[in-house]
Amino acid sequence: MNADPSPPPRVRRPLLIVVSAPSGAGKTTLCDRLLAEHPQMVYSISCTTRAPRGGEVDGRDYHFLAPAEFERRVAAGEFIEHAVVHGNQYGTLRKTVQESLCAGKDVLMDIDVQGAASIRAAAQGCEGLLKNGYVDVFIAPPSLKALRARLTARNEDAPEVIDQRVKNAVVEMARWREYQYLVINDKLDEAFIELQSLVRAEHCRTGSCAAL
Ligand code: ADP
Ligand code: 5GP
Repeated sequence: MNADPSPPPRVRRPLLIVVSAPSGAGKTTLCDRLLAEHPQMVYSISCTTRAPRGGEVDGRDYHFLAPAEFERRVAAGEFIEHAVVHGNQYGTLRKTVQESLCAGKDVLMDIDVQGAASIRAAAQGCEGLLKNGYVDVFIAPPSLKALRARLTARNEDAPEVIDQRVKNAVVEMARWREYQYLVINDKLDEAFIELQSLVRAEHCRTGSCAAL
């Protein structure tokens, strides 16, 4: 008799979802919505040496560290990646990522193009949860003009900071091809559906079936 050809039950493959975008593209808006609708997903809280902005909470938005403490953690190997972005240090804690993936949770990470390149290389060079669950997405604005308009309307940054962010955006956007997925955040609802759909598609990969 032939073996039963029906697929085995699906196991929940935890994803490590790396999202990058130029500042003002709508990454926070989209990621917050994804987290709100996916209780099995956790946000990777980064460490940074930059000062908190109004409304930001230590331990929720970032772990805000003094430069010496950040360096101590670099030396202790606590970061899976770290980079200087807009003149400040940022780093992703290895322990948080590993613990969440081991607990079967999807991890959502908002990091810059340099950090994404480091984690991509680390994922390719290893076995296990990091390699199996790695997925990266670049979120782009429909145009630089729209990006500037959003940064201005957000009303958080001085005009010269906005100029700098738009300049940086040109450099960051040149790297979208390094990512597996591209979402253009023109109409917010459509961009959200695309982001959510790719997460769902990743959970449907045949690698998510037990005993293949
Ligand atoms: P980021 O985290 O990438 O810096 P935000 O999520 O803070 O960006 O979005 C920047 C600004 O643009 C916010 O004021 C947000 O409400 C607005 N925004 C986000 N997506 C859209 C969109 N599709 N259309 C218009 N405005 C948007
Ligand atoms: P902001 O200071 O505006 O929150 O973030 C500035 C930039 O730093 C964004 O591009 C964001 O994606 C990036 N960033 C935030 N956390 C990390 C991190 O842990 N590692 C890296 N490499 N970039 C980060």
